[in-house]
Amino acid sequence: MSGDLFGDATPPAPPAAPACPSCAQWEQDRTSGAYAVGCADCKARGIARSPAAWRAVKGITDVDVRASIVDSFGEDNYREGRRLVWTWINKLKGKGA
Ligand SMILES: [Zn+2]
Repeated sequence: MSGDLFGDATPPAPPAAPACPSCAQWEQDRTSGAYAVGCADCKARGIARSPAAWRAVKGITDVDVRASIVDSFGEDNYREGRRLVWTWINKLKGKGA
């Protein structure tokens, strides 16, 4: 199909952190407990709110939060998961929100 400009085009990759309804809901209501399956920000927010993250923030241990991140994001995506979780920890503390 020559002349069809879009015949072989692949759609652009979605943004790394697409806004999802649950994240949007959280922006409106910081006590929202809504989490969307498959949303990296929702997963990171869930971990950031967990006792494991609290223990890491307090310098008690980061073993639990690391395990949570690996569970949710996978070993291969640990660095990205950790970055997101710490972004959310700071957001939840009221910094950078
Ligand atoms: Zn989300």
